[in-house]
Amino acid sequence: MKVVLLGPPGAGKGTQAKRLEEQRGWKQLSTGDMLRAAVAAGTPLGRQAKQVMESGQLVRDDLIVAMIAERIREPDCAKGFVLDGFPRTAEQAMALDDMLNESGRGAIDRVIELAVDEPALIERIAGRFACAKCGAGYHDKFKQPKKVGVCDRCGGTQFVRRPDDRAEAVAVRLEAYRKQTAPILPYYQAQGLLKTVDGMASTEEVARQIDRALNED
Ligand SMILES: [Zn+2]
Repeated sequence: MKVVLLGPPGAGKGTQAKRLEEQRGWKQLSTGDMLRAAVAAGTPLGRQAKQVMESGQLVRDDLIVAMIAERIREPDCAKGFVLDGFPRTAEQAMALDDMLNESGRGAIDRVIELAVDEPALIERIAGRFACAKCGAGYHDKFKQPKKVGVCDRCGGTQFVRRPDDRAEAVAVRLEAYRKQTAPILPYYQAQGLLKTVDGMASTEEVARQIDRALNED
């Protein structure tokens, strides 16, 4: 099974992709991880990507698609794979289809969109903080330490927040996602591949909805 998971940053795609890998043996493929691995391994594609990134530019779609083509030939992708975070644009979706058809792997079987409520997602992400000492994760609204200002795990009293998690930064990422990805949904819908699940539900409920979507024709 070849699956694409769509959803904005912070919607939980990685968690669900990892679960599908563990339960069904479909390899989770994150293009970010793949790029880092290719660069670290010094493959020809990795060397090209490194040059591009070092010059401060974005890695071109054809390079990423070539990297996916190379990656899915590995034995651990034989049973299937879950693309997490790619494609992000309609052009990438089409390039991915072309590559899969040429590779003989056949088209994507299912596209699952984790739909989110943006204000609620912003609250979910912007509320996160962590213990500076042990890294234990907390949340302003959903998971305060038992004793205010003291880490449950290590007793630390210093906490940190990632700059990327600020509400304004999250809003910018969500808007970029919405603008770029909007054309992908009708593209996959027209092929009858698209299923939408409630990305704001609990991890377990999202998992149930995804399983149901995967089992439907
Ligand atoms: Zn701690």
